[in-house]
Amino acid sequence: MTNEIVYVDNNATTCVAPEVFAAMQPFLTEYYGNPSSVYPFSGPAAKAIEQARVSLAALVGATTEEIIFTSCGSESDSTAIMSALATQAGRRKILTTMVEHPAVLNVCRNLQKQGIHVDYLRVDSQGRIDLDEARALISSDTALVTVMFANNEIGNLYPVWELAEMAHAKGALFHTDAVQAVGKIPINLSGSAIDFLSLSGHKLHAPKGIGALYRRRFVPFAPFLAGGHQEHGQRAGTENVAGIAALGKAAELAQQHLAAEAVQLAALRDRLQAGLLASCPDAMVNGDLQHRLPNTLNICFKYIEGEAILLRLYQAGKICASSGSACTTGSLEPSHVLRAMGLDYQALHGSIRFSFSRYNTDQDVELILAVMPGIVKALRELSPFGRN
Ligand SMILES: *Cc1c(COP(=O)(O)O)cnc(C)c1O
Repeated sequence: MTNEIVYVDNNATTCVAPEVFAAMQPFLTEYYGNPSSVYPFSGPAAKAIEQARVSLAALVGATTEEIIFTSCGSESDSTAIMSALATQAGRRKILTTMVEHPAVLNVCRNLQKQGIHVDYLRVDSQGRIDLDEARALISSDTALVTVMFANNEIGNLYPVWELAEMAHAKGALFHTDAVQAVGKIPINLSGSAIDFLSLSGHKLHAPKGIGALYRRRFVPFAPFLAGGHQEHGQRAGTENVAGIAALGKAAELAQQHLAAEAVQLAALRDRLQAGLLASCPDAMVNGDLQHRLPNTLNICFKYIEGEAILLRLYQAGKICASSGSACTTGSLEPSHVLRAMGLDYQALHGSIRFSFSRYNTDQDVELILAVMPGIVKALRELSPFGRN
């Protein structure tokens, strides 16, 4: 069944790599001991956690004391934001962007209701922020600057290294949601000004329900979950040993293959992009083509609905892609990212995203290119906007 599927929605989630599944299995079966217990039976579980910490630290250029395992990317984001506010007494401002993931945006909105002042950086038509605007908005009252490393919808990469320096110049902390970047592009945190970095297992071929937070050495920290002494008192809760072992293995695989994969994924993406632009009239790529993840293509087909394209892609070849707009209770809510970029109505509703992984092939691209022109043509003939 699943091998018939053409899965090109890897920014939503990824499959668990076979090597990762093998690495986690023993901790769901024979080695089920609590890693905090003292008898030897728990030894393999405790050892697996420390080994995973080494692998994950190596992938992002951190030391092992800087890695805190969490339950997901969202928890890591919340932890960083709440910790920065708790430890920066007196500072009541946050600077972020209009294009963050809901895991950051909705935390900020909640904080606004509690009297925290939040500024949202605007983006231009290609989704880029303005560093001068950022500099002007960071003050001695700023507790945290939080800007994503890579955008999940359009793939844009943001200048987080520079922003971190800027934040430090005003005594503020800097956090980046790097859930889409880790495992796809090289990241070396050693010596950088980034204080917190969030990542998530299920975006790099580990399972759902495991994440991590990088906390730079000596940066003040307040735990998000109180309770037991796990993770050196930084995150309570009995460890998800199997998930942690999985994330460690996924990090190892990512590090081994990252350079070659970036080339392979960019080749698939660029072939799809060129092919679609050549074969479908009124198509346009969304995002910053110069600074983008290698695996992501967000493309708009004017005058038709993204949702309708997705339905037909699945019917035509079990192709799983995604649209920025989510249909909630009958009303189409277009993507906040594309809206922030100022796309017009037609473009907002006709945009879809393809995102590749190491398991995609040339044949996947061939199949999409074979069916898309017909789908676009057929939908335009039905379009309420009329044929252009
Ligand atoms: C998927 C994603 C998250 C959320 O991660 P979870 O592990 O699903 O909570 C946060 N930020 C970005 C950019 C993401 O793509």
